[in-house]
Amino acid sequence: MDLNTVTEVIRRPSDRPGGDWREGDAWLAGGTWLYSVEQPHLRRLIDLTALRWDALVPSGSGLEIGATCTIRELYAHVPPREWTAGPLLAQSCEAFLSSFKVWNAATVGGNICLSLPAGPMITLTVALEARYDLEAPDGSLRTVDALDFVTGDHRNVLVPGELLRRVVIPVRALRKRTAYRRFALTSLGRSTVFLVGTRTPGVQDLTLTVTAGTTRPLRLAFDTMPDATTLQQSVDAIPHDVWFTDPNGTPEHRRHLTKYFAEEIRGELMAAGSPS
Ligand SMILES: Cc1cc2nc3c(=O)[nH]c(=O)nc-3n(C[C@H](O)[C@H](O)[C@H](O)COP(=O)(O)OP(=O)(O)OC[C@H]3O[C@@H](n4cnc5c(N)ncnc54)[C@H](O)[C@@H]3O)c2cc1C
Repeated sequence: MDLNTVTEVIRRPSDRPGGDWREGDAWLAGGTWLYSVEQPHLRRLIDLTALRWDALVPSGSGLEIGATCTIRELYAHVPPREWTAGPLLAQSCEAFLSSFKVWNAATVGGNICLSLPAGPMITLTVALEARYDLEAPDGSLRTVDALDFVTGDHRNVLVPGELLRRVVIPVRALRKRTAYRRFALTSLGRSTVFLVGTRTPGVQDLTLTVTAGTTRPLRLAFDTMPDATTLQQSVDAIPHDVWFTDPNGTPEHRRHLTKYFAEEIRGELMAAGSPS
């Protein structure tokens, strides 16, 4: 789509890209959303991909994902075998149902900062207990828990001129067992619900991340594996106004699916911990 109010694109931003931030500016990452809808309030785009941030930096302490890492790069990443949660990286990319052209351009940071309920990179990073490094216009950094970043449909904690610089996933989360369930109305549709359960090896705990069905990600955490009733009651306790509604599902439908899949995930993770 032609963005005919945009009069300037900064193709070579400085190392402090937000230093000259002004009203009408927007960060440009893959552009797959920015170029897909009218943006009458925008005058200038600042291209973050030109900064050539490292896409993926695995280490003994976890995985750093640069905000401009593309979905394609993340999908191609082969995690070490001891990262039992590693397959969730690719599984979350697969929840982003679009053509290879979109995968080649869309970025992890763009997906998170767009902050749609069905943002699969939000699901992935909340489930794996990531933190986000945010860079202010003066170059200073602050860190937020991924769980606290998205505050509602298309809303997050970024202030004008602030950007998402990187996502850091700790190794302790990458060593957890995972189980996920996703539902979409059509085979290539946007997620109605997307849930991920994780369990620490050798421990009877459960962390359930609830996304897509709710306007912001939620984490239901249990130190010991809950019984079915307790888990169902925890889902029932989610306030009605937090459930998302759009043509992909009513709040009631989403709550029903969440309860159904939560129990499946509980069963799968309990079985995964049983001696064979
Ligand atoms: C066919 C198709 C299917 C799609 N399916 C989905 C889907 O299932 N789920 C979903 O969530 N989205 C979906 N999208 C929307 C969009 O493509 C994705 O969310 C994509 O990941 C956005 O990334 P991008 O790099 O292209 O972001 P851009 O379009 O470049 O930017 C998106 C927004 O984030 C801001 N931004 C980008 N990077 C940063 C940063 N580092 N710091 C601060 N702000 C930043 C931009 O200013 C803009 O407001 C789909 C789009 C298409 C065309």
